[in-house]
Amino acid sequence: MTDWTGETDEGQRNPIADATRLVHANSSSGRAAGLLNPPVHRASTIIYNTVEDYLDRHRHIYDGVIYGLYGTETNHALAEAIAELEHGFRTVLTSSGTAAITLSLSAFLSAGDHLLVIDTVYRSTRRFCDEVLAGFGIEISYFPPEIGADIATLIRPNTRMVFLETPGSLTFELADIRAITNVTRARGIVTALDNTWASPMLFKPIDHGVDISIASATKYLSGHSDVMLGAMTGATEDIYRRLKDAAARWGSAASPDDCYLVQRGLRTLDVRLERHQRNALALAAWFENQPEVRKVLYPALPNHPGHALWQRDFSGASGLFGVLLDPMSNTERSAFFNGLQLFKLGSSWGGFESLMVPAWPAPARSCGEAEEGALIRVHAGLEFTSDLVRDLDEAFGRLRVCRSDEVMLRSLRAGA
Ligand SMILES: *Cc1c(COP(=O)(O)O)cnc(C)c1O
Repeated sequence: MTDWTGETDEGQRNPIADATRLVHANSSSGRAAGLLNPPVHRASTIIYNTVEDYLDRHRHIYDGVIYGLYGTETNHALAEAIAELEHGFRTVLTSSGTAAITLSLSAFLSAGDHLLVIDTVYRSTRRFCDEVLAGFGIEISYFPPEIGADIATLIRPNTRMVFLETPGSLTFELADIRAITNVTRARGIVTALDNTWASPMLFKPIDHGVDISIASATKYLSGHSDVMLGAMTGATEDIYRRLKDAAARWGSAASPDDCYLVQRGLRTLDVRLERHQRNALALAAWFENQPEVRKVLYPALPNHPGHALWQRDFSGASGLFGVLLDPMSNTERSAFFNGLQLFKLGSSWGGFESLMVPAWPAPARSCGEAEEGALIRVHAGLEFTSDLVRDLDEAFGRLRVCRSDEVMLRSLRAGA
């Protein structure tokens, strides 16, 4: 822990706000050199002054600089900033958010173990479970996000781990994390939670009993759509060491340059999220007023089924939400999306720009029925709100023209 954080001798945190911590986060050599930012230390080889130090190096694998694979001071500065934000023991940085997910699972599972996974998990997580872990002899069951304390009924003698994500990927259901971890903790089952949507600024899984909090730093933590990086934070030293060992055994490294960029992104995380939320709320309200919209899937809306849980557990909402529209023909979809000016068609949200893509959650779900309609995923970026609304207004205009053309064509054909 750094000296400025105001931790008392008893290890209690004083009430310095997250935003303030992130503005002041640095490395010890950055501070010593009078720099506001941690220097970028690129390295593979680390050299030692004495043969004794060299032979002793592995004692420092969990917190020192001993080999490039395990990170330099630049990595450690970022890891420390994220760990403080997460209220965790320490953070392991990985080459991507996906690597943080696969390494968290690999750290605790072996052949014969049973893994419980929330059904609304990110698609790549599900594919790793079904295509890789299953092949390694791990049993996997999916459970619906509303399970709560009933997760107890799914636990088998060999259940080793529960993997969570909230809100659900693409469909934004909220899970009662505390109800689940009350059950898992009593039985020594490890929980990991993909917290990419909220980022540790808006939700702190470890405070809710989760053992491993995962973030794709590619998204909000970096915030500028130019970096791939992941973070897995252990609640305890024991969990942290298992994560660090897994990253070492599987050979996952995080580039110091990318760590620097994410550290730079963290400075503005709080102000960016405020704007993302403000834009998302405005756009969500606008969508709700369109006759073609069946439902807006955004936990910050009072009519969202998970709103009460969101209010209980989260300190805000990010900029990502879903909109369920009346079913769209392919022609209507092209009319709607292809004329967009400001909203870009792309996957990796969490950056400064607004994005909009069609989405199909159903093929990656095994519990519950898919809702009928055309789902789109919206990321509200940092643009000026009314510019975004104008772009959407034009898209709905194109959709309506296309729809009335199709109706006219159908009636012409029927008449002919
Ligand atoms: C993007 C994303 C990931 C994967 O992160 P990458 O850094 O792109 O590998 C994992 N989980 C969620 C919820 C995501 O949105």
